[in-house]
Amino acid sequence: QKPARIDKILASCGYGSRKDVKKLIKSGQVSINGVIINDAGTLVNPSLDEIIVAGECIFYEDNVYIMMNKPQDVVSSTYDDFETTVIDLLEGEYFHRKLFPVGRLDKDAEGLIFLTDDGKMAHRLLSPKNRVPKTYYVEVYGRLNESDVKAFAAGMELEDFTALPAELDILEKNNNISSAYVTIYEGKFHQIKRMMKARGKEVTYLKRLFLGPLRLDEELEPGMWRKLTKEEVDLLR
Ligand code: URA
Repeated sequence: QKPARIDKILASCGYGSRKDVKKLIKSGQVSINGVIINDAGTLVNPSLDEIIVAGECIFYEDNVYIMMNKPQDVVSSTYDDFETTVIDLLEGEYFHRKLFPVGRLDKDAEGLIFLTDDGKMAHRLLSPKNRVPKTYYVEVYGRLNESDVKAFAAGMELEDFTALPAELDILEKNNNISSAYVTIYEGKFHQIKRMMKARGKEVTYLKRLFLGPLRLDEELEPGMWRKLTKEEVDLLR
């Protein structure tokens, strides 16, 4: 790895903005190879130098892996002139890492968004041939029934494509609102809404819970995010 400014490294490790990091350094809580520093511009080589912040040794990753509980009314693109994006919710913390969301969720959908700058991993998760499962909690207008389960399992024909067999696991059915878990193995535009519509149901609430082996941390309130643990990153590798 190339040497980089200590303030930049600490900001990308989640120690707040560059300004927060500068304060941290000025307060004498940051040392490099055992020597306390006070210059935020000090250059370090994260793979060779030992960086300690408030007694904790920093592990600087080559890539960043984040899970977010996307709230409604936030778009899952990296840039938008008018709308709040998932990148905006990171509040600039990982700005220079050029993170991108792996797959999209509709503006009105909630739940798991995985963000990374690891292009290889993203490609693997998104590649249609890998058929990575995505599981959602869904509420619809209408009464879901066994024939819907069969239609999902059979691989439904939609206007422009035939969906791969999917799983519909009904939780509650009422005349007005039913709820279910749905697992799909691709990620076409509005896929679940369109599959439900083809069965005469309208999606009223949609939340992604799983992306492959990665599960949404239920402790994350909508709009919150955290870095993946090492175990979670390993699951995705
Ligand atoms: N299916 C949809 O209809 N919307 C999403 O955001 C994800 C899956």
